[in-house]
Amino acid sequence: MQKISILLIEDEKSISDFIVRTLELNGYSVMAEKTGRDGLARITSAMPDLVLLDLGLPDMDGIDVIRETRKWSAMPIIVISARTLEKEKVEALDAGADDYVTKPFGTSELLARIRTSLRHVDKIASEAGGLRKTYSARGLLIDFEKRLVTLNDEPVHLTRMEYNIVSILAKNSGKVITYDSLINALWGPYAGDNNRILRVNMANIRRKIEKNPGEPEYIFTELGVGYRMTEDEGDR
Ligand code: CA
Repeated sequence: MQKISILLIEDEKSISDFIVRTLELNGYSVMAEKTGRDGLARITSAMPDLVLLDLGLPDMDGIDVIRETRKWSAMPIIVISARTLEKEKVEALDAGADDYVTKPFGTSELLARIRTSLRHVDKIASEAGGLRKTYSARGLLIDFEKRLVTLNDEPVHLTRMEYNIVSILAKNSGKVITYDSLINALWGPYAGDNNRILRVNMANIRRKIEKNPGEPEYIFTELGVGYRMTEDEGDR
């Protein structure tokens, strides 16, 4: 299974080192940035599964990092800060942060907040597509509970984003899923125009599962509308 990726934006080295070490020990893949500008660049280039954000950054207010990100993404953002003022917590949440931890915080508290925020994202994705436990068609098998994809019994290694896309399409197999509804399910109502990122991910998915990506057997493009995944044979 692919690791969940977390981007940490924190300028204080001792805190950053501690969090990176803690998260890595707990099985997460971690990227770290020290400024708001670098953090925002990393958010768009790496599309982490979750962002941990310090509010007091050297070059800009963390609140503005949240506002910028929320223009196009609903990825979970947990704010970490030494500030204890209610006003700032509310401001961060109003700007679109999912949760808040105040320094100093314990390891177990931080890990619990992360798990909760990630669960919330999974819940939205699964509610979008009913309750099927598996998908199978033409040798392609998806186990939604284990988040495992195999092709002719060989494991297919998808990134978390690629898996989420395939999983939404597979749970709605046979139906056309519009670009907009897919983007909305993946990145939330703040997503805006993420067509390009979706296309790049789809190209990677096809490279991994299709014999000939130019003539797909599993995921078809409905030009100008969306994607349709070949119907689940498990239901027949
Ligand atoms: Ca700081």
